Amino acid sequence: MQLKLLLEKIYPLHRTLASDGTDEALQIVGDAMPAAADFAIETYSPGASIWTWQVPERYMVHEAYLETEHGQRVIDFADNPLHIVSYSPPVDNILTWDELEPHLFYNEDRPWAIPWHFNYYQRDWGFCLSKNVFDNLSRDARYRAVIRSEFFTDPKDGGFRVGAGVLHPEGGLVPEAEAKAGEFLISSHICHPMQANDDAAGVVTAIEVARRLVENPLPSGSLSVRFWFGPETIGTIAYLAHNEDLIPKLMGGIFAEMTGNKNTIAWHHTRQHNHLLDRITSHVLRNTDHVERNFADFPPNDERVINGPGVNVPCISINRWPYDEYHTTDDNPDIIDEEMLQDAADIIEKIVRIYATNYIPKRRFRGPLFLSGNDLWVDWRENFELNRSYEKIMMRFEGQHSIFDIAEDVGLDYWMVREYVEKFRAKGFVEPLPIPGEAPEF
Ligand SMILES: [Zn+2]
Repeated sequence: MQLKLLLEKIYPLHRTLASDGTDEALQIVGDAMPAAADFAIETYSPGASIWTWQVPERYMVHEAYLETEHGQRVIDFADNPLHIVSYSPPVDNILTWDELEPHLFYNEDRPWAIPWHFNYYQRDWGFCLSKNVFDNLSRDARYRAVIRSEFFTDPKDGGFRVGAGVLHPEGGLVPEAEAKAGEFLISSHICHPMQANDDAAGVVTAIEVARRLVENPLPSGSLSVRFWFGPETIGTIAYLAHNEDLIPKLMGGIFAEMTGNKNTIAWHHTRQHNHLLDRITSHVLRNTDHVERNFADFPPNDERVINGPGVNVPCISINRWPYDEYHTTDDNPDIIDEEMLQDAADIIEKIVRIYATNYIPKRRFRGPLFLSGNDLWVDWRENFELNRSYEKIMMRFEGQHSIFDIAEDVGLDYWMVREYVEKFRAKGFVEPLPIPGEAPEF
């Protein structure tokens, strides 16, 4: 299915930290993910401690509207879930304009659009509306503000949910005892109500990467790739706090969002800044039109958790921010372009394929290797550049260089060098060493 069609199924739902709409979105993701990923939803109990945070309550809005004292309806949640501030507590009050105004939110720059506001932790109720509607409201009238919302703490009422699936390389998962490789994490948040680019776009781009890894699996011995979907920040905290054993296995990550609008791709460095993952990303985007930002520059997302204190998995972020429609009703399928979604998947796929297949070839021979006697000599008539470089490649088998570093040093394509190194490996002349992770001592 076209990614944009899939996005259009997720887009209109009333998604938030935990709600029926979020569950439905996770279901759609589960149906779209390849079966091999074994996508599964995890449910956590609201109120449970997760590091320094708590699992939030589940939220439901039965109805919400603003009307004049005489019953003329001005705003109705049924028309658009953006009309209320996410996680607004219940209210049913008659108010003067002066009492009402602090609870109204609009976007000065886009007077026709409804902005999206949220107030997950300092709970106060509020309505969002276009500046045009705001300007036309009578200042003399009295208004009735009604929000019939409900917070659920019992996990039997649905709890707080995230979903994840893992794709293993060819030949399946390496047994735990031998597992040197670990996993790469691709993460997208799913909690923005009725928002297309931020955040359904990142979700469908990630699904496309999963499909491609099933069509053309990573070779045996590569990292597995874990795909994660859930509410921004708190969802990742809840997931990692409930799955702490996973942290040392995670070797790197990409957070993807806002991949569908017509703008150049931007990437944010890892917290390490010059990590192998940064260098591979630079390599993939070399000679392309792109923007480069520092870790946690705006817009910061779940990479602050993944690559944050006590977790520290090197994680870049990919997006097409800025775009003017951000966090308003104008962030809808009209601004989404299939090619942009696919192109972001291309970039992520290229980074993941290199990162997940890269290893450190460690020498297991002494003296200059008898290349022609071992079928390793490269004929200059067949591959002139590799013929010029094989000595330099062999000199880098001392356990200091990964295949990617060797390819960069000698100025050759990663895949050409990898294919050559694999021939040494097949004959037992090099042993593949994993690239060490960055997980801190906790
Ligand atoms: Zn956002």
